[in-house]
Amino acid sequence: ATELKDEKGFKGHSMLAPFTAGWQTTDLHPLVIDKSEGSYVYDINGKKYLDSLAGLWCNPLGGNEPRLVAAATAQLNKLPFYHSFWNRTTKPALDLAKEVRDMFTATEIEKVFFTNSGSEANDTQVKLVWYYNNALGRPNKKKFIARAKSYHGSTLISASLSGLPPLHLQFDLPAPFVLHTDCPHYWRYHLPGETEEEFSTRLANNLENLILKEGPETVAAFIAEPVMGAGGVIPPPATYFEKIQAVVRKYDILFIADEVICAFGRLGTMFGCDKYNIKPDLVSVAKALSSGYMPIGAVLVSPEVSDVIHSQSNKLGIFSHGFTYSGHPVSCAVSLEALKIYKERNILEQVNSISPRFQDGLKAFSSSPIIGEIRGTGLILGTEFTDNKSPNDPFPSEWGIGAYFGAQCQKNGMLVRVAGDNILMSPPFIISSDEVDELISKYGKALKATEERVQE
Ligand code: PLP
Repeated sequence: ATELKDEKGFKGHSMLAPFTAGWQTTDLHPLVIDKSEGSYVYDINGKKYLDSLAGLWCNPLGGNEPRLVAAATAQLNKLPFYHSFWNRTTKPALDLAKEVRDMFTATEIEKVFFTNSGSEANDTQVKLVWYYNNALGRPNKKKFIARAKSYHGSTLISASLSGLPPLHLQFDLPAPFVLHTDCPHYWRYHLPGETEEEFSTRLANNLENLILKEGPETVAAFIAEPVMGAGGVIPPPATYFEKIQAVVRKYDILFIADEVICAFGRLGTMFGCDKYNIKPDLVSVAKALSSGYMPIGAVLVSPEVSDVIHSQSNKLGIFSHGFTYSGHPVSCAVSLEALKIYKERNILEQVNSISPRFQDGLKAFSSSPIIGEIRGTGLILGTEFTDNKSPNDPFPSEWGIGAYFGAQCQKNGMLVRVAGDNILMSPPFIISSDEVDELISKYGKALKATEERVQE
């Protein structure tokens, strides 16, 4: 690793250089964000940026919601910490568990387990599912099926579930019990003449064949994001989840919905499951749960699963799992307030009234010769740069097209997420019409500069 030192001898995070996400910087001059206000953030030099990713997909109420600050302050003054172990807990944790349970209506939810992050939520899912199958006397039903290009987190197990090779290379991952099936990206993977429905049927058949090859008695759960996020913003093709769920049910395999990005309104429905008629057995949430103001995640457990774990006939002993900060009272108090605000301000109406302007305004750039596809729904959108408008003609990676576009946006006062030649956006729900227009205009300017660079 290279060693970077500033004039005072401070060392850059050079040991973290191999991390691919780009958030551990080797640069001694990173963009240092200092302050936030509504849909904007400011760097330490006072430069203002429209935050098109809402932090890291997680900040729907924007940068300075006073009610969240007040909720945190009140809780800090009253009870800054108590745990939720054994039969002890706190009022905010109890109230939030009840609130989250009641908000999720796609299937019945019986129990809620709090974590500090989405990764921990997905790790928890694996342990819950194993415990459940052990309690049912089928310890060999252990395998998980996830999808290529999915993102489920960065801990060893959640990175295993993820279907992005950089999360696996160098780490001996994925763990042997994790299998990956097709990424449901119609534009990239459909066969000539294949409709979306036919594509979905083929993917469901491939899933079934994988289950049969492995032995259904060995496959425990299938995990999916309703709209894939970090893999490039990939909404499911028509009839996909209907067909996938039929296969999963047929072989008594649990369905885990990873709602870490989609939950609490991003797609214009309270949960991604509502939008795509997904009936999961288990759900992971995080991010927007607290509008990103405090770290928190949660696992939502259906009665089918929780009844087995808590049944009298279960002789396995307690489900021994928990984090010091599970159900942290300050995180829970802030989350309770965030959920209250989503309801009071009718966040779904807000998302649904602003999202056509956002989606249509950006999709109007689809004809650009350097854009292969722009895709998205609600307040999430991905742009993929390719040559000849073809998924099979990527630009040479050394051209750094995505990075160049991102740098142009930053220069013009807008932050986007760059993932190779994909540009990912998920603005806060509070974004105004004028701010959406500003976002579109800045995108247009960056696109023009990027087109010129490609032509050089
Ligand atoms: N699942 C999905 C769908 C995500 O997008 C993320 C993070 O972006 C995670 C899980 C992991 O969440 P965290 O970063 O809070 O561990």
